[in-house]
Amino acid sequence: MPENIKNIVCKHFEMELPPQERSQKELQDLEEVRRFIAKTTESLSHWGEKIPKQWSDFEQIIREKQKLKISSRVELQKFSKNLLKDEFDDILKFYHEIGMILYFRDLGPDVILDIQWFVDAFKYIITDRKHVSTETATHDDWDQYFDCGMITESLMRKIWEEKIGKGSSYEKYLFKLIPFMEKLGILAKMDQKYTQGSQCYYVPSMNKMHFEKKEHWTTLNKSPILSFYFKSYLPHFFFFRLVVACFALFYTKDKSFYKNVAIFHGTHEVEYHTVVIAVNKTSIQIQVLTPTGNDLPLRKERTRSIRLKIEETIADLTKTFHGNVDYEIGFPCQCEPIFITQEDEKRFISEEELLRISTEDPPCPRCKIDSDKRINKKELLEIWGKEKK
Ligand SMILES: [Zn+2]
Repeated sequence: MPENIKNIVCKHFEMELPPQERSQKELQDLEEVRRFIAKTTESLSHWGEKIPKQWSDFEQIIREKQKLKISSRVELQKFSKNLLKDEFDDILKFYHEIGMILYFRDLGPDVILDIQWFVDAFKYIITDRKHVSTETATHDDWDQYFDCGMITESLMRKIWEEKIGKGSSYEKYLFKLIPFMEKLGILAKMDQKYTQGSQCYYVPSMNKMHFEKKEHWTTLNKSPILSFYFKSYLPHFFFFRLVVACFALFYTKDKSFYKNVAIFHGTHEVEYHTVVIAVNKTSIQIQVLTPTGNDLPLRKERTRSIRLKIEETIADLTKTFHGNVDYEIGFPCQCEPIFITQEDEKRFISEEELLRISTEDPPCPRCKIDSDKRINKKELLEIWGKEKK
């Protein structure tokens, strides 16, 4: 490794918890956030790589400008006159990958120069209610946040104000910070149409509501469940990231979010198709619903396109996720009724296995004892099949 790069990669960022008791679950969630940020900001692939001398001068510029917290690509380029314009994107990418800055080209020109400052912004938001004075916000705002994970922008500002004083850099840069948090899958901006006009953000890791079967659930048309079965390890934080990513794919309505389920709606031409995404111990499950009685059947071109969108998103997320996240796509058998969120590991049949079976209604390969149980291969593949009709 070139000498001048050594000091760049030997660094650490602190992520500590406010001094208070936390549940094991909360500690695990925070650990996942920490690991993911570390994963995103480090890349061992650069170790041992030779980089141009001028590139390493850029480290000094980052250090000098760090107090600005955020800068833009254009501004930084002004300070780096000896660097070629064409290679500037590569330089930013390099310093992002070794963990000195945060820069995502698709988010526009903003560059976060102080990662510790960024991590702290989120750390303050997930603070415990009793560590912020009661006058900070209304009871309703707090309840909504600590029950459902919906934080109003005003509460977010107030927490930061109480933690570090009025007019903080977080308040100043709030609108620049949000896209980075969304990109990292830690919160999502809610559609103001459904939040009584006040700007709200959804922080999935703060949601404590458990999804339970509602009365109207039985009257809906429901697709069979499509499962992404994670063979060795399914971190709950991965589900949170998927939920945040789905905000860009589907419509949302308030109160459709639980700690283990998120309910989305299609774009205007598929408005009546509802997409339910759930997590259990081993699987991410997808089910599509339509209301009954109004001639609004499930349309297979919709269910298939929903599958493709989610499948692509999961593939994309697992690329940047730490550890072993090997998964298979398939279906829990339908021998017994199954409610979304219900554990399905023992009933899981992979799509590959199903495709290898030559008959249309084979006996269930999981419930072998009872030979009456059949798998509706045709229906499963028609609704969820990957190939175009
Ligand atoms: Zn079965």
